[in-house]
Amino acid sequence: MIAENLAEVRERISRAIQKSGRKPDSVRLITVSKQMSVDRIEEARTSGAVVFGENKIQEAIPKIEQMGTEGISWHFIGHLQKNKVKFLDERFDLIHSVDSLELAEKIAKHCQSENRVQRILLQVNVSGETAKFGMEPSELEKQMAGFSQLQGIQVEGLMTIPPFDSDPENSRRHFSRLRELRELCEKQNGLSLNELSMGMSHDFEVAVEEGATLVRVGTAIFGPRPKLDDK
Ligand SMILES: *Cc1c(COP(=O)(O)O)cnc(C)c1O
Repeated sequence: MIAENLAEVRERISRAIQKSGRKPDSVRLITVSKQMSVDRIEEARTSGAVVFGENKIQEAIPKIEQMGTEGISWHFIGHLQKNKVKFLDERFDLIHSVDSLELAEKIAKHCQSENRVQRILLQVNVSGETAKFGMEPSELEKQMAGFSQLQGIQVEGLMTIPPFDSDPENSRRHFSRLRELRELCEKQNGLSLNELSMGMSHDFEVAVEEGATLVRVGTAIFGPRPKLDDK
């Protein structure tokens, strides 16, 4: 089941890549394994999944302890509370969800003390609607230079979660907005921001068409999660 779902998601990504004339290997699939047992994640690994996305530090760490990082990597995609920063370690390859300069400074300080550089993405609220997390585009523009100057972190790109809409076409403008914002930030600061993390189970094809380099897919691979707090 997981193997077939994974194959199908990969196929759909490939088709969206072709449709939009992008390079074949320009999109990476993040298999979102939150709330999934190690057994099921192992099954995904056996089926070829290589990057896993977790949204809670306390849940992620024991999974990483058990499964390790040999041939796989772990991304943190959930809201990161400042008091959890101390639990971050080098086993998190990328953090998708940094949503304030204050949080970035905390991570930077923590990583400097560990003598390493943490790769991060900045989460932006591009929809203009009241979203729980993510910076306003204007705030990002103002602070981009500040983020890029911090020692201990490396900003690799931007991430967004548009408001849920059952019609993925309605997410398209949010995805293209994130892409435009990336270009603006690159130009204004002389930076290169390679990653755009956008698209989930219900809208990843549209996200790929709009330039996503990382898509975060859970349900379409593992099936529905138990209805816990999903944030
Ligand atoms: C849960 C989650 C996903 C995956 O959502 P699905 O709809 O199951 O694909 C993607 N991104 C983030 C930030 C999530 O928390």
